[in-house]
Amino acid sequence: MPEIKQLPPGVINKIAAGEVIERPASVVKELMENSVDAGSTRVDVGVRQGGVEAIRITDDGCGIAADQLPLAVASHATSKIRSADDLFAVSTLGFRGEALASIAEISEFSLRSRPHDAESGAEFEVIGGQIQPVAPCGCPPGTTIEVRNLFYNTPVRRKFLRTTQTEMGHVSEAFQRIALAHPNVHFQLRHNDRTLQELAPVDRWKDRIAALFGAEIAENLIWVEGDDAHVKIYGYVADPQVSRANNRMQYLFLNGRHIRDRALQHALSEAYRGLLMTGRHAVCFLHLQISPETVDVNVHPTKMEVRFQDSGRVYSRLLGMLRNRFLTTDLTARSEPPTSKPPATTYEQQLAQAQGRRDELSDWSRQQFNRAVDPAHRAPASWRQDEFPLSFERGQIDPAALQGSPPQPTDVDLTAGGVAGDAGTTAAGPSTSAASHAIQLHNRYLVTETPEGMIVIDQHALHERILYEQIREKVLAGSLESQRLLTPEPVALTAAEAAAVLDAREMLAKLAIDVEPFGGDTVLVRSYPAILANVRPAELLRQAVELLVDGGQGPQKRDLLDDLLNMVSCKAAIKAGDHLAPEEIDALLERREVCQDAHHCPHGRPTALVFTRDELDKRFKRI
Ligand code: ADP
Ligand code: MG
Repeated sequence: MPEIKQLPPGVINKIAAGEVIERPASVVKELMENSVDAGSTRVDVGVRQGGVEAIRITDDGCGIAADQLPLAVASHATSKIRSADDLFAVSTLGFRGEALASIAEISEFSLRSRPHDAESGAEFEVIGGQIQPVAPCGCPPGTTIEVRNLFYNTPVRRKFLRTTQTEMGHVSEAFQRIALAHPNVHFQLRHNDRTLQELAPVDRWKDRIAALFGAEIAENLIWVEGDDAHVKIYGYVADPQVSRANNRMQYLFLNGRHIRDRALQHALSEAYRGLLMTGRHAVCFLHLQISPETVDVNVHPTKMEVRFQDSGRVYSRLLGMLRNRFLTTDLTARSEPPTSKPPATTYEQQLAQAQGRRDELSDWSRQQFNRAVDPAHRAPASWRQDEFPLSFERGQIDPAALQGSPPQPTDVDLTAGGVAGDAGTTAAGPSTSAASHAIQLHNRYLVTETPEGMIVIDQHALHERILYEQIREKVLAGSLESQRLLTPEPVALTAAEAAAVLDAREMLAKLAIDVEPFGGDTVLVRSYPAILANVRPAELLRQAVELLVDGGQGPQKRDLLDDLLNMVSCKAAIKAGDHLAPEEIDALLERREVCQDAHHCPHGRPTALVFTRDELDKRFKRI
């Protein structure tokens, strides 16, 4: 019978260290957090050989009284909470009381400290897990902790350490996260004998962001804020023109603590959907303030992940806020970089406008309006002449929508309905009167006057954008019109392709593409999106197959749907080179104004370039 025994404290601490201290950067994080919790105004971090050889952190915080020093490295000893109830109202970065105990267990550790009201300081060392006697010493108020030879007695951990450069990268990242969240504290980071960061205290958060990440990012930030009874969100999101190849520049702080949260990252990518090129990630710096009792920060040893009581609410709050903001922000690519000119109206006014605009666009009027620029009404000559033998079952969909004489938008005057008066954006779409003055260059670009200057629109990119939004809305609502083929079309594929198509049947069905197995590697297309009346079903399926086969499965499923959406809208959209009738130009320009993001096509390319009159004047040397 195995005997049950209490583990000695050294083993307990090593186990805890295994969770909390993964690498030198973890030490830097824990020690910097302690310094911030101690109310420091200045924190200096010095590191040797990526932190493996030594880490030394000095602060001017409250300090620790001499008689309390040994407690600081005792496990489960903390000054930050007193009872289990406090766990649900944690306002400090630390509370577990195990960081110093863990670090001291797996390194050569020394601590010296002096409270501001003490005459002198005191210091002690921990060697091999043994606390040495506390001795008085002379030192300035505050605390200095030195950690040498990390993992010297846990060889497995030590073996997992990477190169100095990699470890230093992690240290810098940990440093940045804390420095970002506390702009009013002076932070310094030194590696070996070089100063890597010297961050003076600043009042404006943007200045700290600029000091850490450079002017390009700081100059392209959009302020966002919003709150309800439960959550307050504020901070910066970057203009889509600065993006990154990964999501590491998405900084989220929950009640002052840096967190990673998949749901919130997802909300971000949703908000930027269509604004960024595929594979690019948004940059953001956001603070979330949530009453501590509605979030559990005690689910992860390094507190990097948290559990929200109502994560759906936080998700939709963030997504809704960003969408509103983008709706009222001019994200049109300009012919020169944007200046930091403040918007004409306040953020609140812009929000109110956006809200009003959406309320006025009732679903019905939106539908009517969408029909006016529906590509099905522009069925190409070949189709009209039945060169391409498509036969329709009657009654499947409204035939008028396919025959080119749709129910016209009766007297829904959307422009008069408040759409045009979009004072919140400097590049508001052209007004109706301006629209009729639009000219078309090379059957490709539309040029028109706006109150501020002129705008050059890429007809394909804009139409593609309009359709993308329209189709996406319908796909999400499960209401994309499908056209059933009287004679289903067999398409011969390779075995792998056929398998991929049948695997993705459900997703394809959302896009109104119904397929079924036909024996061998052939699949039958039974129906396709009505909006693609001018595309052969087989060609459509082959395009989808390409995406399915190299698009991958699993976690990327959503993106695959988006790729398919892009493909469908691209196919349905008018092309560069298509000649448009004046009414079609007008319809396109009017529709631009109700687009959620009229500024970018779904691939992230701009749909329009804006030239302000000032800029034209400047270029012609009038001013
Ligand atoms: P926690 O931060 O979870 O309380 P730690 O092990 O990190 O646990 O620290 C233990 C205690 O030591 C803290 O609660 C705090 O009272 C004290 N302490 C640690 N670092 C500092 C510091 N830099 N300045 C003042 N007090 C400190
Ligand atoms: Mg701590």
